[in-house]
Amino acid sequence: MARIVMKFGGTSVADMDRIRNVARHVKREVDAGHEVAVVVSAMSGKTNELVSWTRDASPMHDAREYDAVVASGEQVTSGLLAIALQHIGINARSWQGWQIPIRTDNAHGAARILEIDGSDLIRRFGEGQVAVIAGFQGLGPDNRIATLGRGGSDTSAVAIAAAVKADRCDIYTDVDGVYTTDPRIEPKARRLKKVAFEEMLEMASLGAKVLQVRSVELAMVHKVRTFVRSSFVDPDAPGMGDLLNPPGTLICDEEEIVEQEVVTGIAYAKDEAQISLRRLADRPGVSAAIFGPLAEAHINVDMIVQNISEDGSKTDMTFTVPSTDVDKALKVLSDARDKIGFDVIQNESGLVKVSVIGIGMRSHAGVAASAFRALAEKGINIKAITTSEIKISILIDGPYAELAVRTLHSVYGLDKS
Ligand code: ADP
Ligand code: ASP
Ligand code: MG
Repeated sequence: MARIVMKFGGTSVADMDRIRNVARHVKREVDAGHEVAVVVSAMSGKTNELVSWTRDASPMHDAREYDAVVASGEQVTSGLLAIALQHIGINARSWQGWQIPIRTDNAHGAARILEIDGSDLIRRFGEGQVAVIAGFQGLGPDNRIATLGRGGSDTSAVAIAAAVKADRCDIYTDVDGVYTTDPRIEPKARRLKKVAFEEMLEMASLGAKVLQVRSVELAMVHKVRTFVRSSFVDPDAPGMGDLLNPPGTLICDEEEIVEQEVVTGIAYAKDEAQISLRRLADRPGVSAAIFGPLAEAHINVDMIVQNISEDGSKTDMTFTVPSTDVDKALKVLSDARDKIGFDVIQNESGLVKVSVIGIGMRSHAGVAASAFRALAEKGINIKAITTSEIKISILIDGPYAELAVRTLHSVYGLDKS
């Protein structure tokens, strides 16, 4: 007997038929004698609709009320799945975040889980009851509902798995695992059997939204055995109930991966914007004067490029922010203009960041050079570059996104097994 957390994303609970299909996946594990907690997302498209309603109500809304609205999608699916399970004879009940409780910090709209009391869940497992938990939500220190940021149900699931010491956390979605790149963009993408935590962290934070970044961090820290797998298969197909090797991708320590490739995957993030400050004074404190106020305004700055000045007096600084934050960033910078002391400010939206990720890069030279050559051959201009030990990120014009992803995917032979 094992203890398993099963998470189902939006497309997996999109309507009553899909919810009944989820109930069959749950039944398979219950019939095998396992203790099961299920975490559900809202029906696909629901959270977007709820978010747009809050914007419609007021563009500058109270984040606590935003959370009260957007958390409701998961309340609906948790109740519906509990009913569907009861209907097929399974003892189940729904749980909202505040009932467990899942305690979070006060950052409404992007809250972090601080603590989960798993004792009630564990006691009910002992009584043979399945817990159906609303993902994406918890209870803030102000005693109000707090949501975990978009895609946050993944994080709910991994955090619950850590809290109840589950043997496994299965993230069910509309693809059957983690691929070498988004299979919607590159049909030749291949499913990976295993991905190292560090690589998955990079892939998620560089745009592969198959897992929320925070869920990967938690899985890594708490050593939660996490699988990404599909709910769009026959729940009773052979091997689906395999305890140690279920079909899908295992996110694990790099030591568990025997044959490590140099490059594991390609990720992309759309809607990046570039801001350039021209002719800044080249003196200590300038970077702090720029990035301090942006950080205070909670603007996420990503790639930063500073030119070496020609004569030691003036320099240029270029960096990227999400397109949605451009107007806010321009205002913050204009307000701080006297302190920063720049000549002109320029900006460009609609850019895309394409990234090459792989732990094997640590010990291989020439990975970046191959990327630059391949992009040049396709006539794709590079606007900025950043690298770390295990990734290279390249900023390009939006319309070239798909071509760049496919080009890099084939340059590293990822389309060949
Ligand atoms: P859910 O609603 O189940 O949480 P998401 O839409 O958040 O599902 O994540 C699944 C999607 O992630 C897939 O449909 C796929 O298009 C996308 N995706 C992006 N990069 C990858 C990748 N490297 N491997 C698998 N899926 C990816
Ligand atoms: N429903 C939420 C969202 O769309 C959380 C999730 O699906 O993980 O962001
Ligand atoms: Mg998701």
